[in-house]
Amino acid sequence: MKSINPYTGDTVFEAQSHGHAAIEAALTRAVHAVQKLKAMGMDARLDALRRAADILDDQRDDIAELMTREMGKPIKQARAEVEKCAWVCRYYADEAPDMLKPDPIEAPEKGECSLHHLPIGPVFAVMPWNFPFWQVFRFAAPNLAVGNPGLLKHASAVPGSALKIAHVLSKAGFPEGAFQTLLIGSDKTETIITDDRIRGVTLTGSEGAGSAVASLAGKAIKPSVMELGGSDAFIVMPSADLDKAVESAVTARTQNNGQSCIAAKRFIIHQDIYEAFTAKFVQSMKALKIGDPMDDSTDIGPLSSADAADEVYDLVRQTIDGGARVLFAPERKDRAFLTPGVLADIPRGTPGHDAEIFAPVALMFKAEDVDHAIAIANNHPYGLGSSFWSKDKNEIETACTDLEAGSTYVNQMVASDPRLPFGGVKKSGYGRELARDGLLAFTNPKTIAIT
Ligand code: NAP
Repeated sequence: MKSINPYTGDTVFEAQSHGHAAIEAALTRAVHAVQKLKAMGMDARLDALRRAADILDDQRDDIAELMTREMGKPIKQARAEVEKCAWVCRYYADEAPDMLKPDPIEAPEKGECSLHHLPIGPVFAVMPWNFPFWQVFRFAAPNLAVGNPGLLKHASAVPGSALKIAHVLSKAGFPEGAFQTLLIGSDKTETIITDDRIRGVTLTGSEGAGSAVASLAGKAIKPSVMELGGSDAFIVMPSADLDKAVESAVTARTQNNGQSCIAAKRFIIHQDIYEAFTAKFVQSMKALKIGDPMDDSTDIGPLSSADAADEVYDLVRQTIDGGARVLFAPERKDRAFLTPGVLADIPRGTPGHDAEIFAPVALMFKAEDVDHAIAIANNHPYGLGSSFWSKDKNEIETACTDLEAGSTYVNQMVASDPRLPFGGVKKSGYGRELARDGLLAFTNPKTIAIT
């Protein structure tokens, strides 16, 4: 298995992938780790999470460089990602004891009743390349706090990051088997998902991968969390602060070189401000600095690979050929570069209308009023996040209630945060990560009634 730097074309990391015997040994170690994590006790597990946070802080620059070299994200964003991983470790180290306290239940004739939150055992995690550390840490931190061992199959594009994560957690003091990385392709996941030693399955990735993994987990009757694709709406109404909205819109569309599940992808603008918003937005998109992701001043680096850039450019072309108006032309440049772009009048039936554009290309829609804006937003298979810009209380209330999404952020862009539950509805998946919901996702909510 090897990673290729999408900016230079160099091989970053190379290692032998794991075969059947290694998978079997990892499963056995994971089962033994259940007892080891239990014997450690929660305080010691949380201390280990704090040490993991310290290691991440100490090694921030090296880890950031590794991620940037493996998948091309701008280095300043890679550093911020490592800091966020340290935050999620400390967050659960501080909050898990309270969050895991049993919930008392009033049923006096049954005696003293309560709901306890107990670990379920090894959880298998299938993860994507776009936030190579964050996606894994937001799963690993709560599960290690609870006492569930983690077994990671990371995206094939980032084996160096995958092994580094396991190394950080081992160095932090988690026992053997508590968190392991398997370097395997997706063809090896079925045997792991269906193995009785695995008690839960989580996947962050595309709808197709989610459907395949969720089907297997469902057949094997295992709890699963699916964090899948998105084509988030960014709605702007006339009362909004236009300059602030435009500034956020650019960041929301182009963060991580446009390859974020919660990137704003569809910009639904009220007709009264459509021309003004679009003119400023296009101007700001044109001003972004494209180049070497290792350079601190770069806003947009290459996509994760030349193949990924070809695939998404094909979706963009289909949208343009289908009749979309080009306001700022995205260009498929050399290596893995696909430059920012803005398209308007997106026809139904094109990928820009119905699918996910995982690149810094924005799709503009014009709305007559708030209900029309929400109808456009909801007319999509995905429902991950949503961002709504207005100063009108009634409009805000309508948007918060009616937008079909796992979250609505008002007058701000969508951003994940350890304190806030994260997840989607419709084809964006189910279940929640982060906050207390994420901690309890793979627990046995056990009813205890003592007379
Ligand atoms: P992907 O191709 O679905 O890959 C994600 C992971 O799933 C990888 O480890 C991949 O392994 C594995 N995989 C792919 N097909 C599989 C199958 N049939 N069975 C089992 N495993 C399979 O997604 P990606 O291109 O890495 O990431 C981009 C997608 O993830 C976008 O749709 C994005 O919106 C979504 N995403 C969602 C969230 C969220 O929180 N909702 C966060 C980040 C990204 P290989 O690499 O070996 O193929």
